[in-house]
Amino acid sequence: MNKHKQLHLILLGAPGAGKGTQAVRLSAKLGLAHIASGDLFRQEQASGSELGKVAKSYMEKGLLVPDEITVKMVLGRMRNPDCEGGCILDGFPRTLEQARSLDEAMAKEDKKISQVLYIKVSNEELLRRLSQRWICRNCQAPYNVVEMPPKAHGRCDHCGGELYQRPDDTEETARKRLEVYFNQTMPLIEYYRKAGKLVEVDGEQSIDAVEKDLVKVIESGAGA
Ligand code: AMP
Repeated sequence: MNKHKQLHLILLGAPGAGKGTQAVRLSAKLGLAHIASGDLFRQEQASGSELGKVAKSYMEKGLLVPDEITVKMVLGRMRNPDCEGGCILDGFPRTLEQARSLDEAMAKEDKKISQVLYIKVSNEELLRRLSQRWICRNCQAPYNVVEMPPKAHGRCDHCGGELYQRPDDTEETARKRLEVYFNQTMPLIEYYRKAGKLVEVDGEQSIDAVEKDLVKVIESGAGA
């Protein structure tokens, strides 16, 4: 595929903002690979790899995995053939260092980030959502057990996998993750705003309405 037709999107927002939910929908709609750094780390943990063990020690405390490890993992994943037409990055980058490394690595291949879609949600709403979130052990699909429960109790609608509450979604760790987000990830909003790539979407609407806004923004090419 002509690399100028590639679409590289970043979904930016706090834990619980709905990045994963929207990334799954956009990926199906636009035919783009969905790369979620948190999912990649959870898969590494499930496989018992060394990388998984290192990641776990940070994740269980609500802290970020070091940049060097994270950047290497995500850039490696972006080289897979399913990313030829571009990809949707969900949960990456999360620090300025990661954002700069991503820009540099892409520039070397004459590629660039097309748009950064910032899904904005208030702090109180984020904590409420995280405490109600359960995910599929198999395909990682997220559910809100109060507002968006699965059809069959404890089972994923998509693959029938077992649902569980992430250990880092408990209140104490969720609070820590939000603090980490405000300190380490929020500066990316300014970074991408200055680059003319940031577009903000109200993440407190219904899931369908947020998706509609995101699709509108992507189709209009705003920020690209
Ligand atoms: P998530 O599933 O995106 O909420 O990520 C879960 C956890 O994985 C985070 O709290 C971090 O410990 C780790 N993680 C995921 N993405 C990154 C990233 N881009 N940089 C550093 N750590 C990450």
